[in-house]
Formats: sequence, structure tokens, C-alpha cells
Amino acid sequence: MVEPRAERGFEGPADLHLHSLRSDGTEAPAQVMIAAHRHGIRTAALTDHDTTSGWAEAADAATSLGMTFLPGMELSAKHKWRSVHLLAYLIDPDDPALRAETDRIRASRLTRARTMADRISRDYDLVWDDILAHATDGATVGRPHIADALIAKGLVADRAEAFAHILSPRGDYYVALYAPDPVAAVDLIVGAGGVPIIAHPAGRAGLLPMPLIERLLDHGLAGFELGHRENLDAGRRTLARIARERDLITTGSSDYHGRGKPNIPGEFTTSDEMVQRIIDAGTGSAPVFP
Ligand code: AMP
Ligand code: ZN
Ligand code: FE
Ligand code: FE
Repeated sequence: MVEPRAERGFEGPADLHLHSLRSDGTEAPAQVMIAAHRHGIRTAALTDHDTTSGWAEAADAATSLGMTFLPGMELSAKHKWRSVHLLAYLIDPDDPALRAETDRIRASRLTRARTMADRISRDYDLVWDDILAHATDGATVGRPHIADALIAKGLVADRAEAFAHILSPRGDYYVALYAPDPVAAVDLIVGAGGVPIIAHPAGRAGLLPMPLIERLLDHGLAGFELGHRENLDAGRRTLARIARERDLITTGSSDYHGRGKPNIPGEFTTSDEMVQRIIDAGTGSAPVFP
């Protein structure tokens, strides 16, 4: 007998922010689920930047390991010059408006990486093909792929070193990517039936201005990723208070990128109650149960 989905439920612990090589992680979607499982995770979301292309593979792998899979994406946005990442859970992957925007972002990422490569190649022995060799076909291209090409050439030791110098926004080679403003990004996610959560909202750049956070909440922002290694304590406490006062969703996740970052699956997790609230709020797609 097939039980109704809601009664089958899911198991914790949950890690709702993981990247594969469909964007800038270093492992295939199935491998990412295996890594999460190995670290004790039982509910996992794949949240590649600006793409949902890894969902099917990840869902198959997760459920065959007995895990629950939550479809997700990390949508690029920008407030003035500053990059803002919106985790988008349970979106409709075929929503035309969201699709058009992610297509535009990914196209811009490609030309932007190419321009950065051209600038870097004036000073370093690195060409565009070196970078392409480090991005899977169709992947959302980002600075991490340029970093991997620099590592392969022996020009830097790891991604962190590349980001600290050659790829830094303060350096000579940086080019900004196109991304919607955060209000438009929240609108798109909500319009696609998804649940928008600000990723790593209390990082070194500081909190977004409170009036902007208010506007985002008015537009359907559901909450904050409070558990993330890049969040600083003061900002995290401020957002935790806002979340408590407004009864918002709060999550914790690893932002695993395979070998691309030191982040380990399960280093922060999301409570069962919050996972349930995301599942209850999302209408664009459904969790996949084992
Ligand atoms: P981009 O999207 O091209 O602007 O690059 C940003 C991406 O690079 C984010 O997804 C980060 O996860 C990754 N990233 C940022 N800083 C670092 C770092 N120090 N080491 C490794 N990856 C990083
Ligand atoms: Zn990333
Ligand atoms: Fe991010
Ligand atoms: Fe991320």
C-alpha cells in the first residue's frame, strides 16, 4: 500500500545547501548525496547556483540511500554592488519567468568569466580553454572554475588563495555578473511557488539594510540561513531576533562544494520543524521521499 506523502515524512538531520559540478561544486549530484549520507545527513537539498539541472540525479541517489531530497537552487541577486544569494526551495523548475532569469544570469556568467580570463591572461599563463576544461558542460560558470584552472597551472595553491588575490573584487581582473536585485529575485522565487531564504545573510559584508529586509519580507521572503560558517555572531543574533519576532523560517547548512571549500556536510543543520515549514510553504515542486 502506498502511504500518502505527508504521512511518510522525512528524517533529520537535514542539510539544505549543497553544490555539485552543475555549478561550482567538485562532485556530481549523486556523489554529493553520497557525501551527505556519509556524514549522517538524512534530508538533503541540492542548491546549485542558478540551475536545477542536478535535481533528477540527486533525487535518485538520495532516495536510493534512504534519504529525503528537497529540490533547491541558490539564485544570484545583487544589491548595488554587493552579491546576495537567495536559496530557493521547492520552486517549479519550468516556471517561465524564473527560467528566463536564470538563463540570463548563466549567459552573463559565461561572458563575464571570459572577460576575466582575458584580463588574467595578460599577466598569467592562462587561457579560456583552461577554464572551460574545469567546468562541466552546461554548468553554471563562476570564479571557482577560474580558480581551479589557476590551481592546475600551479599559479595558486587552492580556491581560497585565488579568491583572496587574483579573483578578488578589489583586484584588477574582476568583472561583475548580471543578477537581479533581491526584491525581483524574491518575486521570481515566490512566483515559481518556491520558498526564498537569504543564504549566509550575516557574512563579512554585514547585514543588508533593514529597510531592504523589510521590503523582502513584504514580498514573501520566508527566512534566513542562520547556521552557516560565514555568518558573524552579531549579525546572526540580530537576524535571529527578527526571525523570532516575525515567526520566520531559519535554517542551518554546510554550503558544501566538494573539494572546492573546507565546508563539510552537516556542519550546520536545519531542524525538522523548519524542514516541515519549508515543505508546507513550497508549491512549485515536491520533496522526493525514499
Ligand atoms: P561567483 O559566483 O563567480 O561570483 O563566485 C562566487 C562563488 O565562489 C560562491 O559560490 C562561493 O561559494 C565561491 N567562493 C567564494 N569565496 C571562496 C573561497 N575563498 N574559496 C572557495 N570558494 C569561494
Ligand atoms: Zn558556490
Ligand atoms: Fe552563496
Ligand atoms: Fe552556496
